[in-house]
Amino acid sequence: MHFRFEPLSLPREAESLREEVRAFLAEALGEMPADRRASTWVGFDAEFSRRIGARGWIGMTWPKRYGGGERSALERYVVLEEMLAAGAPVGAHWIADRQSGPLLLRYGSEEQRCELLPRVARGELYFAIGMSEPNVGSDVASVRTQAKPIAGGWVLNGTKIWTTNAHRSHYMIALVRTSGETKDRHAGLSQVLIDLSARGVTIRPIKDITGGEHFNEVVFEDVRLPQSAVIGKERDGWNQVIAELAYERSGPERYLSSLQSLMQMIAAANEGRNGESLRVAIGRCIAHVAVLRQMSLSVAGQLQAGHAPNLEAAVVKELGTSFEQSLPETLHEVLGLEPVPLGSEAERVHAHLLQLAPCFSLRGGTLEILRGIIARGLGLR
Ligand SMILES: Cc1cc2nc3c(=O)[nH]c(=O)nc-3n(C[C@H](O)[C@H](O)[C@H](O)COP(=O)(O)OP(=O)(O)OC[C@H]3O[C@@H](n4cnc5c(N)ncnc54)[C@H](O)[C@@H]3O)c2cc1C
Repeated sequence: MHFRFEPLSLPREAESLREEVRAFLAEALGEMPADRRASTWVGFDAEFSRRIGARGWIGMTWPKRYGGGERSALERYVVLEEMLAAGAPVGAHWIADRQSGPLLLRYGSEEQRCELLPRVARGELYFAIGMSEPNVGSDVASVRTQAKPIAGGWVLNGTKIWTTNAHRSHYMIALVRTSGETKDRHAGLSQVLIDLSARGVTIRPIKDITGGEHFNEVVFEDVRLPQSAVIGKERDGWNQVIAELAYERSGPERYLSSLQSLMQMIAAANEGRNGESLRVAIGRCIAHVAVLRQMSLSVAGQLQAGHAPNLEAAVVKELGTSFEQSLPETLHEVLGLEPVPLGSEAERVHAHLLQLAPCFSLRGGTLEILRGIIARGLGLR
């Protein structure tokens, strides 16, 4: 067993989109300060998402009949990397565009697709992912939230935690147990679509260390779901979740989260500060970004070709999040910058990213779990 990272060059139609996206972002973001740009895909701005939707930059690869643009995964890649590099507030539509939409396209019913996807593509409808629970993180297969069958549907009870944007989303796609105890823990799981405004849903925001409220605890108490809430096949949730993770783990958001730290280093070098050591650090960081980008692009190419590069996606996430996690420390080492939340723009960027960086390698699967997947993929365990 081995990795496959075929080199890939972006086709002309993808490259030609770049200037259009840059021009739009220059106008739309204007003088947005760097510490706000540092939030990148956590930044939430519904109006901005609607503008992106109107441009046709959400659901870009989906069929036109569901509101998509029938463009390639590589064109989409260019839009994403430009958005992230500029620090655009893409958080409102990010999860639906990256994950929930493709999941519904692949496993959803025709009714779910027709009803939901066009609204996602317009930047109007937002989704949350409900996998983690109290005491259920890395070991997702041990989820306990349960949907019990009743006449005409299901009744849902349980708690999800760390649910990004649940308080601002319309729907959650959750992994839940739909059959009682089974010998095979993976066998009784299903994915269900939950309307977050339904009776019995309580959403409590959890503050992160920067004071931001991005993730939540979501409690379900006797929530009624229609029969049609199950996405794909009942009890096939585990396989569906595994397929979904390739979309989640390999995109440019897995190495660009702290790009603003690197931009601060470049700005300092442009001002003639710190000489040789700063230039060496910048060169090393750019070399890392260039390699990670090639690897991530290669996975996008494989997804476009209809493959399921789960192993390669895990490698990109392991290396990419380790890199983006190291950037604030590098900024501190080469410029001696201290994290001052109310200080200069550079200090504010540093304070924000230094505090957020530990979570980069947790969200979407921890380093240890990814290393386990990689080792298994290589036949080492
Ligand atoms: C910013 C952020 C956003 C998130 N958003 C969402 C979301 O929208 N939806 C959602 O469902 N979840 C979300 N999560 C939760 C995230 O998926 C979990 O934090 C992650 O899966 C790890 O689970 P845990 O925190 O319970 O840690 P645990 O699973 O308890 O792990 C604790 C430590 O033990 C290690 N460990 C665990 N098992 C093993 C093993 N078998 N071998 C070796 N080491 C192991 C882990 O690597 C980790 O270092 C989010 C998390 C963060 C930080």
